[in-house]
Amino acid sequence: MIFAEASQIQCEVAGSPTGRFFALLRMTGWILALAWASAALGVERAPDKTVVLTFDDAVKSQVTNVAPLLTEYGFSATFFITQRWMDDQVRFMSWEDAAALHGMGFEIGNHTWTHDDFGKAEAGARLGAELVRVERELARVGVPRPVSFAWPGNSLGPEALAALRGAGYRFARRGMQPEVKYGEIVPGPLYEPGKHDPLLIPTSGDGYPGWTLEHFKRVVDRARDGKIVVLQFHGVPDEAHPWVTTPLERFREYMAYLNQEGFRCVALREVEPYIDRAHAPDDPLAETLSRPRETASVGPAVDKNEVLFIKAVVDKVIVNEGEPVMLELQLWRIIHKDIASGPFRGSGIKLPPTEGFRVEDLEPTQFEAKQGQQRYQVSVNRKRLYPTRTGVLRIGSWHWEGIALFANAATIGRKKVRYQLDAEPIEIRVVPASMPKP
Ligand SMILES: [Zn+2]
Repeated sequence: MIFAEASQIQCEVAGSPTGRFFALLRMTGWILALAWASAALGVERAPDKTVVLTFDDAVKSQVTNVAPLLTEYGFSATFFITQRWMDDQVRFMSWEDAAALHGMGFEIGNHTWTHDDFGKAEAGARLGAELVRVERELARVGVPRPVSFAWPGNSLGPEALAALRGAGYRFARRGMQPEVKYGEIVPGPLYEPGKHDPLLIPTSGDGYPGWTLEHFKRVVDRARDGKIVVLQFHGVPDEAHPWVTTPLERFREYMAYLNQEGFRCVALREVEPYIDRAHAPDDPLAETLSRPRETASVGPAVDKNEVLFIKAVVDKVIVNEGEPVMLELQLWRIIHKDIASGPFRGSGIKLPPTEGFRVEDLEPTQFEAKQGQQRYQVSVNRKRLYPTRTGVLRIGSWHWEGIALFANAATIGRKKVRYQLDAEPIEIRVVPASMPKP
């Protein structure tokens, strides 16, 4: 059919000068070749100004504030539903609310039952069951089985990815990581259907309270050349999770801008025409996540207990009355290129009880040391303890809390391990000065 029409065009221009005729013939050939190629692939290029709108966590304000505004502008969107916070019926949706959004023409996506960290192996193994639980509740209120998924907490893992593929999900949205660090207000990666796995669609802009209209424009104005902007919002506003809230006034500005500038706002499932299902894109992230994970150790040949530990050290355990004891509270942190560690923010470092001693604090100090196969940075809190009576005195246990971050190819970003450490108490025998030490 296309060929017949093209032949007619050639006939009509047959009377023109020869050069022009051949130029047109070549052009027609190209048009035919392109038409044939795109028909064979069945893939379209996303029009410029295509923006995917997504809203996570089933926040009530998405029903009261977001949906009516989107409807006013004729925008489509995906709402990712989780049961996690639904007990709070004031600030979060019910299943019936999700059904109402579906009734308005919006896409309902699966955001799991528990909103757990599915980057972890154990949670990832459970994902299939969680998807079904959400699907059942949606079915109960008349919402069809979702085809889209959003990774909770933007955390990725190989087990969960396999579960998603197995369950037949067609689209899944991840966060701006690993391209952009969490919490940074910079434009995130654009979605390129030829480059990204459809189950690892990146977020191009994650709505933080610190966003301005200027930043929003920087994020969305990049939607061109077949690249799609994917926006991730939470509540508008989000009272339960203020770190991801978007004030309603700002949100109105953002949507008005999209409307004025003629952006095409769609749900995630509407990117289907741009995906070549016959040829999987060469997504390095998918490649990383298809490798089996090492779970036995936290890093290359490093045991968890070798990474961080504390010690309480005294220079002697039997002293004469009036003779001081030197106490060192040592924090041992491994020196390793893939491991960073430090105290847990706002958490307790409890110094040991030292009843029966008068305590003199000394300058803290540091040194490097080897133990086993590993090298350590040792931070030392030093005290001089003067016994105030004789008998057995006790230096109680000291407690330290912290985290270690492991660069780990199998989990995206970094793996975090929390430590709660206690040192053994120490007993000091104080003998009267007149008596020789045994
Ligand atoms: Zn979420």
